Formats: sequence, C-alpha cells, structure tokens
Amino acid sequence: MSDSPEREEVLRKLRVLLPGFPDIRLGIAIDLIVSAFSPARIRKQRLRAAQEKGRHTPAEWRAILRKHGGKCAYCGSNQDIHKDHIIPISRGGSDGADNIQPLCVHCNCSKWANL
Ligand SMILES: [Zn+2]
Repeated sequence: MSDSPEREEVLRKLRVLLPGFPDIRLGIAIDLIVSAFSPARIRKQRLRAAQEKGRHTPAEWRAILRKHGGKCAYCGSNQDIHKDHIIPISRGGSDGADNIQPLCVHCNCSKWANL
C-alpha cells in the first residue's frame, strides 16, 4: 500500500484528525493497522479460532473420504476432491471432523457463490 493513492488519502485524513503528528508517525500507524487487518493474518486468526472449537486429524479426513467413497458429497464426482468446511471457518465453523466434507472444485465454488 506504500505510496498508493489510497494511502495518500488515509494520510490526508489522518493529518486533519491528528494535527501535529509528523507524517512518519502517521505512516507507521497506517502500516500497523494494515498489517493487523491483512487478509493473511485474518485467515490465520480464523483458522486458529476454528481449531480451538475442534480439530480433525489426517486419519479422520481419510475416514470421511472413505465414508463418501472418495466422491463429492454434493454431486458424486470423483474429480478434484477437496476438503470443505460445511460451516465455513469465515462464518465461525470449526475445523473438527463433524464440520468437514469432501467436495469437488465445481461444487465448492458453487457453494461460495450461493453463500
Ligand atoms: Zn461436486
């Protein structure tokens, strides 16, 4: 974000809100806030919260796959099967085995489109 028009705009507003603070300090404040809310950091925090609610093991994932015959839980395809959180982690779902299902890429993308 450094030197982007968005950063300049935030800096301009901060100068008005916090008169007397040097730009270097306002810039550091912007960087701190941006890093605290970065998508990667938010994903990491959500996964940690989900794992505190429940955590599946590789053996449990293999058992879930076996239960579904290695196929997508929605359409029955056996192409490009991925682990899906039934209640998405971003919506407060856990990482436990009871919240995991196998989905093909197509169904996983459709699910997100319908959420
Ligand atoms: Zn599918």
